[in-house]
Amino acid sequence: MRKRWFSSLLLILYLFCRMDPAISDDTAKLLRDYIQLNTVNPPGNEIIAARYLATILEGEGIEYEILESAPGRGNLWARLKGGSEPGILLMHHMDVVSADASRWQYPPFEARLVNGRVHGRGALDNKSAGIFHLQALVALHRKGKPLKRDVIFLAVADEEAGGQLGVGWLLDKRPELFDNLGAVLNEGSSGALTQGKLSFGIEVTQKLPLWLRITAEGPSGHASVPQAHSATARLVEALNKLDKVFFEPRVLPVAADYLRSHARDAPPPWGELLKTPELITQSRATMAALKQYDHRLSAQLTNTCTLTRLEASGKINVIAAKAMAEIDCRLLPDENPGRILEKIKRAVAGEGISVKPLLSFGPGVSSPDNFLYKAIESRLASRFPGVPVMPRLNAGFTDSHFFRERGIPAYGFSPVILSKEDKSGTHGDNENITLDNLNLGREILLEILQEVVY
Ligand SMILES: [Zn+2]
Repeated sequence: MRKRWFSSLLLILYLFCRMDPAISDDTAKLLRDYIQLNTVNPPGNEIIAARYLATILEGEGIEYEILESAPGRGNLWARLKGGSEPGILLMHHMDVVSADASRWQYPPFEARLVNGRVHGRGALDNKSAGIFHLQALVALHRKGKPLKRDVIFLAVADEEAGGQLGVGWLLDKRPELFDNLGAVLNEGSSGALTQGKLSFGIEVTQKLPLWLRITAEGPSGHASVPQAHSATARLVEALNKLDKVFFEPRVLPVAADYLRSHARDAPPPWGELLKTPELITQSRATMAALKQYDHRLSAQLTNTCTLTRLEASGKINVIAAKAMAEIDCRLLPDENPGRILEKIKRAVAGEGISVKPLLSFGPGVSSPDNFLYKAIESRLASRFPGVPVMPRLNAGFTDSHFFRERGIPAYGFSPVILSKEDKSGTHGDNENITLDNLNLGREILLEILQEVVY
């Protein structure tokens, strides 16, 4: 009852604001209201954000549904019905990562507008994209022109914790919401300003996470009288073996394009080597040198395994019966995770040692030969003539894998231009977005949509 009263109040407030026609163009205002809704995951509480966005859709008369995967974990689905051509899904996530206010210049959930920037957690990741999607949906709806395909707006919960209560849950429980989809637009890449040079990336694939826990067991006891095969000794031995596992580096076409784009400004010998990445992967020494030069570039060429967590005894003088390590492996996107898991199990095998996978995705690459990819490319070409637009391999992961695994093309692209410093706000301190980017994003996104729906 209280909830209904609250939504009605929001609706009245919204309709009141709606009398001012400028509000529909006020990306900054919509974004600031959105950031002020605290959706730090955990606990997420995305339902407050879903209701906020729904109120706007309600006011416009756009069909929508709120779907709760668990108490407070709201997802919002909305649709503009179009013709029979495969639909386009605009997806963003409503949850954000936490923010340590003591390290921020402005409070992370006040969404202050200072010197042409909106400051707040979610300004880049991923609430601004949500507002671009929402405003484009509203603009198309207001035009009222027939669309040749459905346009679906999806705001999901739980991306920051793996998406099982967000898009993973929706695809499982309500697969019909995703019928006849031709392309998904999600976060992943954007425009980048590096040393004054502009380029755009469209993420078409990601490294595949293979998260592992290695557990070692052995006799427990007092540290003053150690035995021969303690759990910790066995674990250290297993980790040493893992460190020696060699993954053959390979040059995927998407990685080759990316490396070549870094050749132009690279000092010798990298200027030449990056033009022909095969020269790098041929030699273990050159691969090691590339990792020293730029670890982000070397990660494009090979599987990696990083030891991130260790746990054993809680007391210095007690030998634990169990010790464990967690390893974050990231595989090239066409890799077979089962094969790599077997390879690692064989390599670290020993008495008392077990390996358990904690998270693993199937392979998935989306082809640039798709109406959405081509529309992004063509809109960028007309706005920014001569600026390179490249398919990208993302070393991290987003919700896009849920679609790619099911054979639905997904593209990671936010229509904004970010410097290295801007990007550091994502999951970091002082996240913010410029008003220029808000205007650019709103405009380009609508242009892209107009190109694919009429
Ligand atoms: Zn994100």
